[in-house]
Amino acid sequence: MFLEPRIGDESRGWIEVIAGPMFSGKTEELLRRLRRAKIANVRMAIFKPQIDVRYGQNRIVSHDANYFPSLEVGHAADIRKHTKNAELVAIDETQFFDNEIIEVCEELALKGVRVICTGLDMDYLGKPFGPMPEVLAIANYITKIHAICVQCGYPATHSFRKLKNKERVMLGELESYEARCRKCFAEGMAAQEKFT
Ligand code: ADP
Ligand code: ZN
Repeated sequence: MFLEPRIGDESRGWIEVIAGPMFSGKTEELLRRLRRAKIANVRMAIFKPQIDVRYGQNRIVSHDANYFPSLEVGHAADIRKHTKNAELVAIDETQFFDNEIIEVCEELALKGVRVICTGLDMDYLGKPFGPMPEVLAIANYITKIHAICVQCGYPATHSFRKLKNKERVMLGELESYEARCRKCFAEGMAAQEKFT
């Protein structure tokens, strides 16, 4: 797998996806790729959905407080207006975008852009999240990463919501969510069922 632009390949774009649960290091991994692209003087445009207001508005920030400037957009279609000269387009928190994100990614890749999407593959119920299944399906490269299960220390694939709240989108950090492996996630869900 090659993830860096190659000489003679300027016209070839592709789609990379970094997927996993909360705290798995998706943003860290994105920032690592962006730092390397910056060293190569690649022209970048970095986007995140308006819904994610956890930290600064105009930057993507990992849980260990690293960041890169980014542009907040309300709709996937808005990305088109800001990618004229971009050679690399990064989309953070892809799960919160509308389905048009799929077309936008394909258009960009066809134009020769390297597209990097990060996102939660599953929501707090363990169900596929927003446009992520389609984005994963059309990707050239997928990196699925794990957090550490806070219950047992195994690789965590799921984001467990500690509070009972039926809203699908509930922003929050360590106080509301924890990373869990499949087994501890299932046990937690079963225990919550019992007490409601
Ligand atoms: P994501 O974008 O996937 O939510 P981040 O890149 O923002 O993840 O943050 C990853 C960082 O979160 C880790 O490097 C670590 O410092 C911290 N962290 C907190 N809780 C956990 C956990 N349960 N498992 C792994 N990392 C954790
Ligand atoms: Zn576990």
